[in-house]
Amino acid sequence: MNIKNSITKFSQNLPPGCKLVAVSKTKPIERILEAYQANQRIFGENKVQELVAKYEALPKDIDWHMIGHLQSNKVKYIASFVSLIHSVDSMKLLQEINKQAIKANRSIPCLLQVHIAEEETKFGFSEEEVFSLLHDENFKKLQNIKIIGLMGMATLTQDSNQIRREFKSLKSLFEKIKLLTIPSTVEMKELSIGMSGDYKIAIEEGSTMVRIGSAIFGARNEQ
Ligand SMILES: *Cc1c(COP(=O)(O)O)cnc(C)c1O
Repeated sequence: MNIKNSITKFSQNLPPGCKLVAVSKTKPIERILEAYQANQRIFGENKVQELVAKYEALPKDIDWHMIGHLQSNKVKYIASFVSLIHSVDSMKLLQEINKQAIKANRSIPCLLQVHIAEEETKFGFSEEEVFSLLHDENFKKLQNIKIIGLMGMATLTQDSNQIRREFKSLKSLFEKIKLLTIPSTVEMKELSIGMSGDYKIAIEEGSTMVRIGSAIFGARNEQ
């Protein structure tokens, strides 16, 4: 797998307004540097310890995105530098992110992860939970977080109609939220959908951020 070529190909083929998050989880520093040398600056990781180690080892103009399930007790390790947390899936986590953001004297951009897949195992809010969160008085008090959009993962299936349906449901929620009177800490700008296997459908359904791992770095032997 030629990482530079893959990055260049993605950069040239993504529509304007759709950003590439290069998912570098499990991949060593040298592979990430190859992508960096092809001008990739947004990288996604799913484990806190790995994210911190890579942040420390790599150039400081990289935007690090946390894309995996995040435990509240680990927020403190990434609060000072993380550019975007895609995987916010509870009020408790939001409160902790807000607390650590205050300590770090910054505002932390977040996406709400919404459960759109059929599978039971994927994390995320239901649509109803998103609406009740947005109307929660305690949520409105969190001034050091900024919700800038939604993230979702489609079911792992060959059925492209199902994948499309799931992405459409998230896009429709995204548009519904825009019409609400929402707190000033919420602004629906980013729709993080699409991975190596389904990014083409995601782009057709309005993705502004695709999270691509194996199509850039090759298969992982995890996990
Ligand atoms: C691993 C991962 C990806 C990338 O998956 P690929 O299929 O390798 O592109 C995207 N999003 C999340 C949340 C992931 O954990």
